[in-house]
Amino acid sequence: MTGFVIDPPPRIAIPTTADGAFPVRRVFCVGRNYAAHVREMGGDPTREAPFFFTKPADALLTGGAPMPYPPATRDLHHEMELVVAIGTGGADIAEADALAHVWGYGAGLDMTRRDLQGQAKKDGKPWDMGKGFDHSAPIGPLSPATRIGHPDKGVIALSVNGSVRQSADLAQMIWSVPETIAYLSRLVRLAPGDLIFTGTPEGVAAVRAGDVLEGKIDGVGSVRTVIT
Ligand code: MN
Repeated sequence: MTGFVIDPPPRIAIPTTADGAFPVRRVFCVGRNYAAHVREMGGDPTREAPFFFTKPADALLTGGAPMPYPPATRDLHHEMELVVAIGTGGADIAEADALAHVWGYGAGLDMTRRDLQGQAKKDGKPWDMGKGFDHSAPIGPLSPATRIGHPDKGVIALSVNGSVRQSADLAQMIWSVPETIAYLSRLVRLAPGDLIFTGTPEGVAAVRAGDVLEGKIDGVGSVRTVIT
């Protein structure tokens, strides 16, 4: 058998501050990873095991491109997050070895149709349509760990139209990056090109068309989009 029956989908890649783009395989996201955000969502921030959901790779929105306000929602929320880019795969990765699997880091937004997610939670149904919709993952350029190191503290902040909405510190994560990688690698074999959105701090709120979102993580980078 040769060739494809339809044109193959384009390869998804994220610009980097290094020489070349980062090709994306899968996008994993951690839920409830900052205690104050767990509380604002009505949860209990005891240290339960981390849990994960996914977005399709083509939900990524790069280069500061505008984000179209998605269909089927009246409550589109921002979630500002540190994103880990996996460079070396593996399963059952030990926490002590986890950072060696990281190529680099970036700033991303886990945009959420909160009304759909809330209904899904209530009904015991999957979150996919609340989380994994088109253009739901704006992301800034990735930077290699060889240049920026492995950030485990520093301000993570998001402003909307110039007003600060979210501001916290990476050190407040319930599950650290090495712990998250180790845990996730016991559920799936991680592969080069995988991304992990590491959860959002408190301050999530709704946005509407015309809003300008600007996120920044000290020592890591930034992400920007405008809702259209
Ligand atoms: Mn999130």
